[in-house]
Amino acid sequence: MEAEAIVRRCEALYADLSLGSVREWKAAHPGRPAVGLLPVYVPREIVHAAGALPVSLLGGGDQIDIVKGDASFQSYICHLPRSMVELSLTGRLDALDGFVFPSTCDVIRNLSGIFQMTTRGKYIRYLDLPQAMDEGTGGAFYRRDLVALAAEIARLAGREAPGDEALAESIRRYDRNRRAIAALWAVRAGAPWLVALDETYLLMRAGAVLPVEAHTELVEAYTAAVAGRARKPEDRIRVVVVGAFCEQPPLGLLRTLERSGCYVVDDDLFLGARWVEGDVLALEEGRGSVAEESAAPVDGPKGGPHGPPGSDGGGDPYGALARAYIGKSLVASTRYQPDGRRGEDLVRRVRALKADGVVFAAPSFCDPALLDQPPLQKSLSEANIPFITFKYAENTGQFQSIREQAGTFSDSIKLWGEA
Ligand code: SF4
Repeated sequence: MEAEAIVRRCEALYADLSLGSVREWKAAHPGRPAVGLLPVYVPREIVHAAGALPVSLLGGGDQIDIVKGDASFQSYICHLPRSMVELSLTGRLDALDGFVFPSTCDVIRNLSGIFQMTTRGKYIRYLDLPQAMDEGTGGAFYRRDLVALAAEIARLAGREAPGDEALAESIRRYDRNRRAIAALWAVRAGAPWLVALDETYLLMRAGAVLPVEAHTELVEAYTAAVAGRARKPEDRIRVVVVGAFCEQPPLGLLRTLERSGCYVVDDDLFLGARWVEGDVLALEEGRGSVAEESAAPVDGPKGGPHGPPGSDGGGDPYGALARAYIGKSLVASTRYQPDGRRGEDLVRRVRALKADGVVFAAPSFCDPALLDQPPLQKSLSEANIPFITFKYAENTGQFQSIREQAGTFSDSIKLWGEA
């Protein structure tokens, strides 16, 4: 399939706020539920293994007028919860049988309460992600919660809780998805003129609603297709976009950023889809075995929800997911990390990607993103890496000032090597 045709399909999925593809999936899989996952990260492998379709929810963007959503919130918080309430109260989320709210921030936590009151009969789950980043404490706590979450979603599907082998199989499918995305990211870093930011973003957004197997095929097909594009590099700077991990900027803003003279070689848009770096299980191609993976010391019962270690041939995939959260997650403002590490990581990433600078693009009133900016900026300044900063809302409609700011940033780096 041509890259342009893949992008057109992804854009249609992105524009469909009523989740038509989810309805189609449910019609093709009678009795199986679809579960909405709020940002930033919920392990979709658990939902998949329990027999449900995981659907990542990222707000309504600039495609929906907010009428009822504004009544639920004060003015000084971000925009995403307003559009989530609007989507829900206008029936656009009716295809979903439940919702999981991770412990991202106070806004997402409070949104879970509003959904509890307004979505009668739906499954509502708050998922406390670990704060203690060691396997014996946070890992063991998280593993227990994942076992409970899997059992609850399986009940929605009228099934038994998934055993180790079922979960291991789901993780393998997501591992393949992660490899496909990593291959695409490698093309972005090496030849960003082949891969426009809005295209990769739409491709990632398709993964919010498609089954993982279909999404992996799309990513692999797109990556293969762009390799054949006859495009030449342009005189643009290479930037990393930081801060857009939860509420998403409108598509027009992403297009503006690239048109103003930047190649975005890495970003944290829709970060939940790339949360874990590398494989969770390392089964294939000499990457090791589930048995080796599960030998790592995550406390708690092994061998799946109920059985002894490896009782059904899958090792301890629940433990592997917990270890992945503790040890293989990307650096994120919503994940606890000792002081200083985030700045070091950003500097390392910028240098590894040979980026010229950083664009801090955060949603207005987003505490996790905005509180992280001063220490990150300090680390960049100490490393002589230029940056610019702007805020957006998911329904921002005017991009002129951002175009001017990013254009000036690009020109000054091209002319003088600094902003
Ligand atoms: S945009 Fe920021 S403040 Fe708003 S829900 Fe997301 S993480 Fe929380």
